[in-house]
Amino acid sequence: TPDLECRAISKSFKEFKAVRDVSFSVPQGTFFSILGPSGCGKTTLLRMIAGFQEPTSGDLLIKGRSMLDVAPNRRPVSMVFQHLALFPMMSIGANVGFGLRQRGVNKADIKKQVEAVLERVGLGGTSDRAVSSLSGGQKQRVAIARCMVLEPDVLLLDEPLGALDLKLREHMKIELKQLQSEFNTTFVYITHDQSEALVMSDQIAVMNHGVFEQVGTAKELYYEPKTAFVAGFVGEANRFHATVDSAKNGIVNLKTPEGKTLSGLDLGRGLTNGSKVDVFVRPEAVRLSRNAKDITKMGNTGKGTVENVLFNGANSQLILRDATNGAPLNVALPQTGEFRDLVVGDNVHFGWEPEQTR
Ligand code: ADP
Ligand code: MG
Repeated sequence: TPDLECRAISKSFKEFKAVRDVSFSVPQGTFFSILGPSGCGKTTLLRMIAGFQEPTSGDLLIKGRSMLDVAPNRRPVSMVFQHLALFPMMSIGANVGFGLRQRGVNKADIKKQVEAVLERVGLGGTSDRAVSSLSGGQKQRVAIARCMVLEPDVLLLDEPLGALDLKLREHMKIELKQLQSEFNTTFVYITHDQSEALVMSDQIAVMNHGVFEQVGTAKELYYEPKTAFVAGFVGEANRFHATVDSAKNGIVNLKTPEGKTLSGLDLGRGLTNGSKVDVFVRPEAVRLSRNAKDITKMGNTGKGTVENVLFNGANSQLILRDATNGAPLNVALPQTGEFRDLVVGDNVHFGWEPEQTR
């Protein structure tokens, strides 16, 4: 049995459906992320799992047992909030032991368990120190320890890194994933930040307007997005709304309304002439060349003018303006060679292999 299972769970606020028929299951020990834009229903879903909000319909099971009639404090779940919600006036040990005190555990056992869990998160011997003496990263570990000492089956995390600055967030991503695999506890992590979800998760559900559009590994979502929303939200993508111009033996040529041709595509979707499709090309799939003949064999080529250079270290990008149709094309800027020095107004040839159009 999976640790967590949601069956067609829904939540309406009056007429508004915030969560619609969401079904998924999470095997034990999985880092499961729910990724979606602000307002798509992530927190509402998490609050239903925690028991703070009652579903309008559907069922919710933990280790095979329905939670609908189980009070929040009796569910085998624990929750980490966005601002961590540590008690600033209490010591680290008092923070971590808080839930055990509420459960009526005796003092000596609390002390033992608190010390043991602090050891596991790398904060052994800090029990008597003030929470205010800790760095942001250490506070995060105390927040995790405070939950893990209760030995939940599922740990729920609602954008816990949201309040941290960029540098610390990068560090905490790695650390959080490490803590999860050390404890081997099922994490359900919600975020609107695709890079957090991609780096940490075993499985990611992409949520939009209250529904799960796709559930898969980071690579599945990135390389085989099932909807246009997933392609656009997970990573960067150049999208084309196109019509099938010709189809032969499963290989199709497409034409966009702006007159761009995308040729030699094996889309495997049983397409016929006139079918409408949405396809995309990742910025890193686009190759550049100073002269046309180097890339003509690619079949999806063009000439463009550099409209913008977005320098961002390893993730630098070029925005090209396609000479034939005026459409913008987002290209990952190669790190080495002549293209590093492209400036606005330069002309350059581009192309990509047919199998890079998806
Ligand atoms: P997210 O966490 O993805 O940003 P939420 O789950 O907080 O989204 O909210 C989803 C939608 O439900 C939003 O449009 C929000 O305004 C609405 N909503 C959330 N809670 C309530 C509530 N208690 N009453 C009415 N509307 C709500
Ligand atoms: Mg939220």
